[in-house]
Amino acid sequence: MELELQPLNLPSDNERPSCVIAGPCSAETEEQVLTTAKELAAKGCHIFRAGIWKPRTKPGGFEGNGEAALPWLKEVKEQTGMLTATEVATPEHVELALKYGIDVLWVGARTSANPFAMQALADSLKGIDVPVLVKNPVNPDIELWIGALQRINQAGIKRLGAIHRGFSSYDKKIYRNLPMWQIPIELHRRIPDLPIICDPSHIGGRRDLIAPLCQQAMDLGFDGLIVESHCAPDEAWSDAKQQVTPDILDYILSLLIVRDEHTTTEGLRQLRSQIDEIDNLLMDLLAKRMRVCREIGTYKKEHNMTVLQASRYNEILEKRGAQASLCGMSPEFAAQVFEHIHEESVRQQLEIVNQ
Ligand code: PEP
Ligand code: MN
Repeated sequence: MELELQPLNLPSDNERPSCVIAGPCSAETEEQVLTTAKELAAKGCHIFRAGIWKPRTKPGGFEGNGEAALPWLKEVKEQTGMLTATEVATPEHVELALKYGIDVLWVGARTSANPFAMQALADSLKGIDVPVLVKNPVNPDIELWIGALQRINQAGIKRLGAIHRGFSSYDKKIYRNLPMWQIPIELHRRIPDLPIICDPSHIGGRRDLIAPLCQQAMDLGFDGLIVESHCAPDEAWSDAKQQVTPDILDYILSLLIVRDEHTTTEGLRQLRSQIDEIDNLLMDLLAKRMRVCREIGTYKKEHNMTVLQASRYNEILEKRGAQASLCGMSPEFAAQVFEHIHEESVRQQLEIVNQ
């Protein structure tokens, strides 16, 4: 099904990536909200985000101030002129957000994974003209993401956009949520007119990953960014590790190279970002392989077996060498790579055996 879309028409800055939404993970106190907003506005930011209702993985965390925090966002608008954006997960959230004049609504990753919740949201948006951004579901399912977008679109919302915030995974990894760039790239191929905004904060989960992720999003031609920014990030009540001050955010944005699609180096940058993506996948796979190796270490310990079993090691080197030849790589290269991998596996297994 085709989506019926109109441009989001959100304010943007000529020199910066078009459309930057910035603000804290959560609206904690009136003072925190207004201080952060004023600092962001002073840096030329046009759209302020803050979570009013926070979906937390486990009970007991800060779940947002709810309706009590909505007047603070109204105040932000009045004092800074910025537009305001917040997450909605239920029809009641939609009603309250609109009552307090919130300009942009977004749907979180836990909600977009749930078709019942999406349909209830869509029904509550019927007849209303407000821009809605739909985050990808936590699981890497592009059909579910598109389905969520379709439900909102069928309710008559034409100013629609997607937010790429990465995907959950079980293994220890570099990113809090795996970017799996091929999924938003495929979304863009399937629905070319749908704006896609990148959320480097929830992909990276760490301050130092924000800048490279923003650049990667620009290199891939994303339409905007949504970044968590807090006046005192270390004291944040949620997602402290991934928030940056408005100052730092401004610095990150000032360094971004916003690529003109037609410059001659565009092809090279695209290829390099593919390489980065592949290297990240390689690192994640290596981490996964080491996890299995540690399980083997435990098994060997329980069964009183030696860590080093030469026949198995030779078998690996031979098999991988032959696979390398088939893929046009030298068998010696493969042997060297697997010697190093094996060395690290043995080191990790010895640690377990000697515990
Ligand atoms: C958020 O934006 O603070 C948030 C909760 O994001 P997500 O739905 O991507 O986890
Ligand atoms: Mn957050």
